[in-house]
Amino acid sequence: MKNYIGKIHVKWCKNCNVPLLGKKCGICGEDSVEVKLTPPGDARIAFKYDIDFINLIIERDYSKRALSYKKIILINKIPGDEESYEIIEDGVVKYLISYDIDKGWRVKLKPYGALKLKDSKKYIKVDKKVAEILKNRKISILRPGILEFGEFEKGDDVLIFDEDNNLLGVGLAQISSDEAIKLNKGKIVKVRGILDREVEGKEYESLEEALNKMVEANKEVLNRYEINSIGFIKNTYKKINKKVIVPFSGGKDSLTTLILTLKAISRENIEVIFIDTGLEFPETLENIKEVEEKYNIKIKVLKPNKSFWELLDKYGIPGRDYRWCSEALKLEPLKEYIKDEVLAFVGLRKYESYNRAKKKLIERNTYIKKQINAYPIFHWSSLHVWIFLLKEKAPYNKLYEKGFDRIGCYLCPAMGLGEIERVKELYNNLWEKFERELRKYFNEEEIKKGLWRWKNPQ
Ligand SMILES: [Zn+2]
Repeated sequence: MKNYIGKIHVKWCKNCNVPLLGKKCGICGEDSVEVKLTPPGDARIAFKYDIDFINLIIERDYSKRALSYKKIILINKIPGDEESYEIIEDGVVKYLISYDIDKGWRVKLKPYGALKLKDSKKYIKVDKKVAEILKNRKISILRPGILEFGEFEKGDDVLIFDEDNNLLGVGLAQISSDEAIKLNKGKIVKVRGILDREVEGKEYESLEEALNKMVEANKEVLNRYEINSIGFIKNTYKKINKKVIVPFSGGKDSLTTLILTLKAISRENIEVIFIDTGLEFPETLENIKEVEEKYNIKIKVLKPNKSFWELLDKYGIPGRDYRWCSEALKLEPLKEYIKDEVLAFVGLRKYESYNRAKKKLIERNTYIKKQINAYPIFHWSSLHVWIFLLKEKAPYNKLYEKGFDRIGCYLCPAMGLGEIERVKELYNNLWEKFERELRKYFNEEEIKKGLWRWKNPQ
């Protein structure tokens, strides 16, 4: 499967310290280097909120805000049930953050990330012999090779220094420092990563300046993508020759698709449609107005006949394997609205999930038979989309600046636990209403652990 979808090659300019979509930097002309990411590698740009958020997690364990606010930071989601992200700074993965049901958000150090946390109390100092071996091999460090201990607990990430205080790498403590000191043998730290070079990329005056530089460095490559997508829209429109709709969700991908479609086809031939499920975030509804204003268009708003709350008694709590809500609240209103055949330009991208990688660029909608879907940004990565939106100064949904990866309903069973925490924090009243319903079917434990997202109560 992994081979089928292909890996996204995120690259970096070491000079300008910005991510690159192509082989060369558009500012300095330097060859790009590959950023080693976990596939699919659909990394996004961190906003100030994200940098704050990650810094707080790091600070809790290491008493330091390690990430810069004046560089481009990327966040790469690792596939899995709960949230887990690689944090990229200076073109390398420095930290892993993940959500744990019991402990909340946790950070794991990578060697490059440890470089910024040299003052940490969680460390060991090893003798020359161990230091020599560590240059080539990840080993378990035994008690006799350790000269000095900081303070750490079992399961902590520990920085490993040589006698001269050079950082060698990071490892996982197999035992607490208090206990380790008393021993004279045994495994103390299992090495996870070894440092092979120093990395420290340049800082800009501000995050905003760094973002502008990133846009500049990628202008040419992005332009090619834009021309291709606009060409695709024009050709498809000519070939299919039907009324055009753009389903707009309030998310970045559909906004990108909308802007490209507006550039390709004259606007009186496009109908933009937003389906208000009744479970939208206020930011999303606000975004509809912002987009209307900026592009001087009118967005048609469709609503389901019956609300989610009315349907809840009949169908029960939706789950990941039982998403009646998507059908009843999103697909049904559109299906009813579409009387004659239409051509829909949809912001679907192949990297969003493995399931989507197999799709054709033009295909009939399986649920709405009168709708032919076409995907102008199918080959774009999240980074393409973000650089495009920043270049266009497009009014993207403010939720993206509040830590959200995806824009959807505020009670979607596809959400991770960390995302649910974020909803509770931001809109406790909205979440509370849903939780009252959850309590009819699930106990506190099942709600807390998010088990409701899978178990169909019927
Ligand atoms: Zn450069």
